[in-house]
Amino acid sequence: MKKVAILGSTGSIGTQTLEIARTNGDLEITALAAGSNVERLEAQIREFRPSLAAVWAEEKAKELKSRIRDLDVRVVTGMEGLIEVAEQPESGILVTAIVGMIGIRPTIAAMKAGKDIALANKETLVTAGHIIMPLAEECGVRILPVDSEHSAIFQCLNGENRCELHKILLTASGGPFRGKKKEELREVQVEDALKHPNWSMGRKITIDSATLVNKGLEMMEARWLFGVEPQDIKIVVQPKSIIHSMVEFADGAVIAQLGTPDMKLPIQYALYYPQRRYLPGERLDFWKLGQITFEEPDMENFPGLRLAFDAAAAGGSLPTVYNAANERAVALFLDRKIRFLEIPELIERCMEEHKAVKAPSVEEILQTEAEVYERIEQMRH
Ligand code: NAD
Ligand code: MG
Repeated sequence: MKKVAILGSTGSIGTQTLEIARTNGDLEITALAAGSNVERLEAQIREFRPSLAAVWAEEKAKELKSRIRDLDVRVVTGMEGLIEVAEQPESGILVTAIVGMIGIRPTIAAMKAGKDIALANKETLVTAGHIIMPLAEECGVRILPVDSEHSAIFQCLNGENRCELHKILLTASGGPFRGKKKEELREVQVEDALKHPNWSMGRKITIDSATLVNKGLEMMEARWLFGVEPQDIKIVVQPKSIIHSMVEFADGAVIAQLGTPDMKLPIQYALYYPQRRYLPGERLDFWKLGQITFEEPDMENFPGLRLAFDAAAAGGSLPTVYNAANERAVALFLDRKIRFLEIPELIERCMEEHKAVKAPSVEEILQTEAEVYERIEQMRH
């Protein structure tokens, strides 16, 4: 039986991972970690019976302990708790379904403990890809992409010669505001930005999809996962999210992976790779679909995407600045403290004011994150 630990089990990817475990019945869930939703975590623990659970805050952990006092489950907290879940001796694979740069240290700990990584937490690769990818090789572990686009690319590359890969065609839906100009984007509200046309996801990534920052993060994620240069990644807008991404080879052949928009496919593929399992759900019906359309991305009205290419080209600590500024800006937008267009503005200012560090260590990455948070705090006072 495959033994799985999950960071971020109560979120969108986390709950879908458990749904796959429930349907297949042959995955053993060994450890779960969540932020603060102890009610949902308790239900998950009762159903899947892991031996270890982590909750971020001390207070919430106490609550969980008392809720599950009839069970034999160890409850741990904070970063140490996340790392314990990541390193847990029983598990073979760690699903990183946590949101944000908080995923970096536990991901590294899991790799050093010999675990394969089913990676959803894109922020880790964006900021520390130069550390994570060589480390995976050194530790002899696999990084299996969960993000739908990266899973698609991974599937397209099956059995192919990587050195004949010419371009990655990263598809994008364009988000809920596709086609809008800056003047129209000025007044958009949190509720509008949370309405993604095709995917139901966590709040942070949904906002990132509206600003196109998500596609910027995915471009950087792809560059590390597949060892290509940012200029070899082309963004192709395909509004219905039917094509999950494509690759172009040296001879001009393009291979694509298609499917209905359902994250369970990439999650399941990562968990059982290289096996494919039956997955219940709708199938693509091309007769009904009729057409698939394509557009160029609009980097003028959605500068978040352009800034990602700038950050990737500069490299070093710049992607961390891009990501950290975005994390904070999105949190402020969700709290209704800043407007939608201020998200890319804050990212740009932070990038301009930053003194870049080449090939930053984990400490330097976390230091950069703290500096960016500080800077945004100062800018707002
Ligand atoms: P989400 O907000 O729905 O869930 C996040 C999870 O992380 C929750 O379980 C939360 O409790 C946990 N968490 C947050 N802070 C924590 C902390 N300090 N300690 C412990 N746990 C903590 O997010 P999501 O949409 O599932 O996204 C997770 C990651 O996967 C993100 O990096 C996102 O970019 C990526 N991703 C998500 C999707 C999707 O469809 N949702 C698709 C592709 C990639
Ligand atoms: Mg994606």
